[in-house]
Amino acid sequence: MGNRIAVTRSSMPSLDEYVDEIKELWDSHWLTNAGKKHEELRRVLMEYMGAEHLELFTNGHMAIELSLAALGLTEGEVITSPFTFVSTCHAIVRSGLKPVFCDIDPYDYTIDAEKIEGLINEKTVAVLPIHVYGNVCRIERIQEIAEKHGLKVIYDAAHTFGETYKGKGIGTYGDVSCFSFHATKVFNTIEGGAAVYRDPSLDEKLSQMRDFGIVDEERTAYIGPNAKMHEFSAAMGICNLRHVDDEIAKRAGVAERYRERLEGVRGIQLNKIQKEVRSNHAYFPVVINEDLFGTDRDTVFRELDRNNIGARKYFYPIVTRLDCYRDKYDSSDTPAALEISKRVLTLPMYADLEKKDVDRICDVILSCGR
Ligand SMILES: *Cc1c(COP(=O)(O)O)cnc(C)c1O
Repeated sequence: MGNRIAVTRSSMPSLDEYVDEIKELWDSHWLTNAGKKHEELRRVLMEYMGAEHLELFTNGHMAIELSLAALGLTEGEVITSPFTFVSTCHAIVRSGLKPVFCDIDPYDYTIDAEKIEGLINEKTVAVLPIHVYGNVCRIERIQEIAEKHGLKVIYDAAHTFGETYKGKGIGTYGDVSCFSFHATKVFNTIEGGAAVYRDPSLDEKLSQMRDFGIVDEERTAYIGPNAKMHEFSAAMGICNLRHVDDEIAKRAGVAERYRERLEGVRGIQLNKIQKEVRSNHAYFPVVINEDLFGTDRDTVFRELDRNNIGARKYFYPIVTRLDCYRDKYDSSDTPAALEISKRVLTLPMYADLEKKDVDRICDVILSCGR
């Protein structure tokens, strides 16, 4: 049966490469507070992402919370989708804002742009869509709606590191795009995150806000948390960024193998390939239609597990079904999100996943069908 295949595996440089990168820190004794590694990572990331403005954070979640704060969004409603990681919704609620849930497109799993306008009222201040699994939202339509109604657009871009849309870095769309550099993401700084934005005045605000709101020795302008990225994380990022294009190319090979094996199988919906998107192949989701496939998602999940293969019910349950939100929101308001969450599985995906392992995974899945 072989070793267990994990659903993901963090990218790492060689130990030598990392040790080389952190040697200077022993000489300088400068470990955090926008040191040399932090500034270098910021610079190389801006170049890589085609970003004019970028701030680093301790994680992707704080990038979202502090972006909302820096945009001056402290009360009102924010339209988002419940088909996401809990962080997105927590960031809205913890900022004193009210999430309003919009349904998703059942083929690319991002917010259904045509349903946004029906949710806008005088209290709406922003839209916070999620680029799910690396699938890009309907950017032009969302921008058009936001401009018409005077709303800010903050993208949860945690899944889209390294992507371009129409040849431009994905972070350059909307007012702010927030990225996660968590260990399980396509690019990691162990824990970490970034916000990419248009408005130059956010440079100073975000850099102060993530450091308790401190302006200088005697002035503190905001009631901010500590959300700074430290030098060891930045050094990890510098190393990982050198290899990220290779990693994405290898992920593309894994995705291709999955497609060769699963394309056209009755009852299995594969991720939509989007035009004009350079994908990062962050995840490989399959949506299982029990009536057509003959077996439901949970049975396939268990069968994979029994065969030592880790898949993930991601995102299940949807945010509005979680204990902390279920009493306040009605998950049946977003039927497509609810349905997809019950049918979706993300399959193992990482750069070094071998073709023979992909074949083993696909053999188990196919053996579940009729
Ligand atoms: C990972 C993730 C986050 C949170 O990022 P952290 O770096 O873990 O704080 C937010 N939203 C989505 C969609 C994510 O996948």
